Amino acid sequence: MNGKLTVVGTPLGNLGDLTDRAREALASADLVLCEDTRRTGGLLSKLGIGGPKMLVSNEHTEAGAIGRMLSKIEAGGHVVLVSDAGMPAISDPGNRLIGAAVEAGVEVDVAPGPTAAVVALVLSGLPTDRFVFEGFIPRQGPARTQRLAEVAREKRTVVIYEAPHRLVRTLAELIEICGGDRLAVVARELTKMYQDVQRGNLESLHQHFVDESPKGEFVIVIGPSSSIQTVISDEDLICLLQAERAGGVSTRDTVAKVATITGASKRRVYELANALD
Ligand code: SAM
Repeated sequence: MNGKLTVVGTPLGNLGDLTDRAREALASADLVLCEDTRRTGGLLSKLGIGGPKMLVSNEHTEAGAIGRMLSKIEAGGHVVLVSDAGMPAISDPGNRLIGAAVEAGVEVDVAPGPTAAVVALVLSGLPTDRFVFEGFIPRQGPARTQRLAEVAREKRTVVIYEAPHRLVRTLAELIEICGGDRLAVVARELTKMYQDVQRGNLESLHQHFVDESPKGEFVIVIGPSSSIQTVISDEDLICLLQAERAGGVSTRDTVAKVATITGASKRRVYELANALD
């Protein structure tokens, strides 16, 4: 393979964030794979770059795009992958395509750009030494409950992408499962004119957004659970155990669920459950 694939990060909303390397990669591309040719065409024309052929590569067209990418690279071409904004493959298409290039032995390079998760994490002021990127959590059903429970007991900072119309509901559900006093930050419209960062806890953030119809793009950053684990009282654990048991669930399952939700050790929850018998 004589050509190569360059994965290019594009601005989240501020053209000033486009790097020189990104500009050079786009200017030298023989083929640009993108989510939306109008959007990427707009970016190329703002940069004064005319010419490179564009091809849509999204979850529906990715298989065909992989074939086109590989034949272009085999012929010595330079293929560039972008998404609408931020880094391709981060809650955006691209991962399968990059995997296919790696698998085929293609040279893969990256011209890094901003990604909303990292911008929000850094701005949040919450611990950055260890963090988890959750992307968009499932919208409903047991998969959502399970994911929220994992967030509740997570000992690293958690970063979640959320759509504006689901922000308030997600904050309310996070309060139910993590407690209202869990530290959190909501970052809106990062790098854009109306960038806004609200810091507080889940309760105060819910209060802040509940009376508006939030608009724009949002990232929720949630602090680690360690503080919760040390403060949860026996009384609160007993309350949860009684509520679960009222539903006729076995002691074993009740203990497992309460331990998962609260982050308390199973042993401690078992002892409390046994004392209730
Ligand atoms: N690939 C992108 C990245 O690198 O961040 C993410 C694309 S994903 C389809 C879009 C989601 O990212 C939005 O719903 C929002 O949660 C987050 N996002 C993207 N741009 C943002 C911004 N400027 N401010 C806040 N969140 C943003």
